[in-house]
Amino acid sequence: MEYDHILIRYGELALKGKNIKQFIVRLQQNIREALYEYEQVKVKRSLGRLFVELHGADPTPIMERLQKVFGIYSLSLAIKVNNEEEAIKEAALHALLSSKNAKTFKVAVRRANKNFPIRSQEMNQILGGHLLRHSEGYTVNVHEPDVEIRVEIREKATYITSTVVKGAGGLPVGSSGKSLLLLSGGIDSPVAGYLMMKRGLEIEAVHFHSPPFTSERAKQKVLDLAKILTEYGGSIKVHLVPFTELQQEIFKQIPERYGMTVMRRIMLQISEKICQNNHILAVTTGESLGQVASQTLASMNTINEVTNIPVLRPLVAMDKEEIITYSRKIGTYDLSILPYEDCCTIFVPKAPSTNPKREKVLQLEEGADFTSFIDKAMAGIEVVTVDAKAIEEDDFSDLL
Ligand code: ATP
Ligand code: MG
Repeated sequence: MEYDHILIRYGELALKGKNIKQFIVRLQQNIREALYEYEQVKVKRSLGRLFVELHGADPTPIMERLQKVFGIYSLSLAIKVNNEEEAIKEAALHALLSSKNAKTFKVAVRRANKNFPIRSQEMNQILGGHLLRHSEGYTVNVHEPDVEIRVEIREKATYITSTVVKGAGGLPVGSSGKSLLLLSGGIDSPVAGYLMMKRGLEIEAVHFHSPPFTSERAKQKVLDLAKILTEYGGSIKVHLVPFTELQQEIFKQIPERYGMTVMRRIMLQISEKICQNNHILAVTTGESLGQVASQTLASMNTINEVTNIPVLRPLVAMDKEEIITYSRKIGTYDLSILPYEDCCTIFVPKAPSTNPKREKVLQLEEGADFTSFIDKAMAGIEVVTVDAKAIEEDDFSDLL
């Protein structure tokens, strides 16, 4: 007898009606995608639960992988047996004896299947007695047990679980629609992407780069960051926008103090066009209020006015410390702090205006024309799909 399943609980309470079906199907799909490496495992749906059938696969790396999947509330290793008293007893004993360092236990039976002839309370007693008789050194503690042996008697089978591991929470990626993440190489924007995925958004990314002022390595760094994000939400399409000429033109036509504001406005305009072309309904940025000159309220106000599309800023109220904590947790920090050039820092003026008045910027833009440069940048976009599944292939060429 061994743990042959993983039982997955999702936060069903927050969901109602039609959404729930869509939610569960999406979650099942995302779990399958996350576990693509494990060919033998199967992901099944059942009322209120999802199950992973292990078919001999090692559960440890699979549990770790599942802890990154949004929409999962908690998970447990489970033993599946027929709805028969003897089989349930044997599995419960196995669950108790394999919980390391536990001295006290409690049995909790949930009889979802009312056709099972023994009622929950009686079954608790039967199993408690059985466990005490067939083990040594354990006592029952119903209030604060070291381990709780949970027995779910369901329609077709009974599942026995003990340890409950916390899941990532949130909603399944893709169940809330899609957003375009403005992804730089910095600390903040990958965290912003992570947080929106947690709320069920699928993301595509846009990155503005300015070769040869920004290097190939700086571009690769952004793709590597996207690759880390795929662990939480599957493959990500990255739109790489050539920004060199536009940036040079901006700083030629606009006074230095306002260059950055205009540059941001154009970044947002281009992002909006990408959204329109790809059926995306919002953009997400890593902006945090007051962090730098472009992130004052006056700047946000003046930059934002070029678009009607919702601009999601999940970090707006966070301190840098909090953002860094997230960044370490999701695994992007070490990559983010590598010192490669960014298009925005290269052209950034020494003293950008922190209070760029809308009227002033509009007036400056009136005397300039960037349309043809924007069209050219749009035409030059390179799309790279960062695949969640791409594993580095072994190079055997030297063996031939
Ligand atoms: P980050 O740590 O994400 O780089 P930041 O603190 O450096 O943010 P800014 O440089 O003001 O702040 O950028 C604010 C936001 O604008 C970023 O979080 C990102 O969403 C977007 N952004 C900045 N530079 C780029 C770029 N080159 N390509 C795409 N988006 C960008
Ligand atoms: Mg940055």
